[in-house]
Amino acid sequence: MNNFLIKLPLIIVVILLTQSGYAQINSSRNWAIVIHGGAGAAPTSMTPEKIEVYEKHLIEAVSIGKKMLNEGYKSIDVVQKVVNYLEDCPLFNAGKGAVKNIDGIHELDAAIMDGSNLKAGAVAGVRDIKNPINAARLVMDSTVHVLLIGEGASAFAKSKNLEIVDNKYFSTDEREKEYTKIRKGSENGNPGGTVGCVALDIYGNLSAATSTGGMSGKKWGRVGDVPIIGAGTYANNETAAISGTGHGELWIRRVVAFDICALMSYKSYSLEEAANEVIFKKISPMGGSGGGVIGVDKNGNIVMVFNTGLMHRAWAKSSGEVGVGVLKGDERVVKK
Ligand code: ASP
Repeated sequence: MNNFLIKLPLIIVVILLTQSGYAQINSSRNWAIVIHGGAGAAPTSMTPEKIEVYEKHLIEAVSIGKKMLNEGYKSIDVVQKVVNYLEDCPLFNAGKGAVKNIDGIHELDAAIMDGSNLKAGAVAGVRDIKNPINAARLVMDSTVHVLLIGEGASAFAKSKNLEIVDNKYFSTDEREKEYTKIRKGSENGNPGGTVGCVALDIYGNLSAATSTGGMSGKKWGRVGDVPIIGAGTYANNETAAISGTGHGELWIRRVVAFDICALMSYKSYSLEEAANEVIFKKISPMGGSGGGVIGVDKNGNIVMVFNTGLMHRAWAKSSGEVGVGVLKGDERVVKK
């Protein structure tokens, strides 16, 4: 009896821990995830074969998130891991495959936000951090700051033992060709390819992450919308998680990601109504090269809204549904 009484507190703790873990992993709550791989004008070079390649990678990326969410991972870890995959994939304008600025240098921006506590981290204009989203996550987790830039961000990343690479690492043949055209003045603008991920986990937490090389041929230390919290990236458990892509200056001026959440919060718009209002009624009239957003709300509703010819995108839901799309109107469910 005595022995039992001594052990009782331990037994109770073990039962509580087991039960809370069991309850979490087997929660009946929905989860949902959406990713984008950039928006822009649909290039004539976008053949069905190329679309197939993009779709393959988009489905692979979203499947990483699907597996993690099914296993009970938190959305903040999921969005980071999925963006890691997209940063390492040379097809996209983030990490390996990032565009060059006017001086032929890759300068990358990234941000991550946790909607459960409104914590956020971002880096801008970094030249040697292999996975900028990992640096953004550490800014959020281990500093009192939100945004670190350039050499300071690199010094921070080194102090945290993140992988550092030569600037040449980010280059691909495609980007070299694009840069040559820009130098000749025969190409100007935004090839798209920024990457982003938003997710709702089974605990009801919303998170967003976005990573980019920015606008091709950008000048003088230009920073886009991606690392500006509220512009290209935002998450709040009370409303939605949003990641943007497109003509970043417009996203900054319209504070796009926050504006969508604000419409939901102050005017009780649905996520879909809010995203459509901001992209078509506020961004489209401004001209520029446009773009889009992905979003997920606290109930697992998702949006993929864009005013361009193309936005690489994929989604998955706890119902088992997986879908993908590249061109306007071509999205399809690949798994029910
Ligand atoms: N929004 C990014 C930027 O302006 C570019 C893009 O999404 O294509 O830096």
